[in-house]
Amino acid sequence: MRIHHLNCGTMRPLGGTLFDGNPGVLRRAEMVCHVLLLETEDGLALIDTGIGTQATSRPNEWLGRSFCLAIAPTRDRAESAVEQIVRLGLDPADVRHIVLTHLDLDHAGGLADFPDAVVHIYSDELDAMQSPRNRAEKERYRPQQFAHGPKFRAYRTEGDPWFGFDAVRELDGLGSDVLIVPLVGHSRGHAGVAVRNGDGWVLSAGDSYFFHGELEAAPSCPPGIAVFETLMQAQRGPRVDNQNRLRTLVAEHGAEVSVFSAHSSTEFSRSLAKGA
Ligand SMILES: [Zn+2]
Repeated sequence: MRIHHLNCGTMRPLGGTLFDGNPGVLRRAEMVCHVLLLETEDGLALIDTGIGTQATSRPNEWLGRSFCLAIAPTRDRAESAVEQIVRLGLDPADVRHIVLTHLDLDHAGGLADFPDAVVHIYSDELDAMQSPRNRAEKERYRPQQFAHGPKFRAYRTEGDPWFGFDAVRELDGLGSDVLIVPLVGHSRGHAGVAVRNGDGWVLSAGDSYFFHGELEAAPSCPPGIAVFETLMQAQRGPRVDNQNRLRTLVAEHGAEVSVFSAHSSTEFSRSLAKGA
């Protein structure tokens, strides 16, 4: 298995230091959409999809006007997963599987670029999108992004223990090298996705946290990120518990499991430097 780290949607929220901790508030911070592309013996697989090509051709419709104003997502189609796959000399039609951490617009936006792929997701997350329980769930998902009828394959949270997490399981057709890990809190059925990398693992923690300092022994988090995490959380208790579990994972097994947030540009750069 070969793992590629792709940024499939640079986002630049207003507020500078409030989001990235670097000096200056009157500038835009930089965040990424950290996607994994897996070259398996049985075709290609994506872990999350970024914002997709239609975010560049019709951004207000695809992502929403307020999101575009606040976050200033890239208009560069070259960042889309589908174009990056082509530049790697691979065929987007070979993407057979997509595993999503959740269905928010910056993770599911690229689904429509791969309409034939099987889309693996927790059933609680699919239910939150299809049958929202409250206004927050109704507004966070973009129906346009699912209008093509994704081939969802939904899973209940059940399985085996894995590095301190419970109910971790394999996914149909992806073998034992890709695991879905319940990381509920940011959204109702939010997941982490672990991919075997040689003797260790890479774990996409999605939006379980946003800032690299949050998983350090003495955690730190810029105030804008802290507010955003609270505003967007579906369930506070599980979100905080899972963030604590991730911090313990890094402290106890950081040599075996490399964890990243979907949006940390610092961690994305580290992943590129490590090569996998
Ligand atoms: Zn996100």
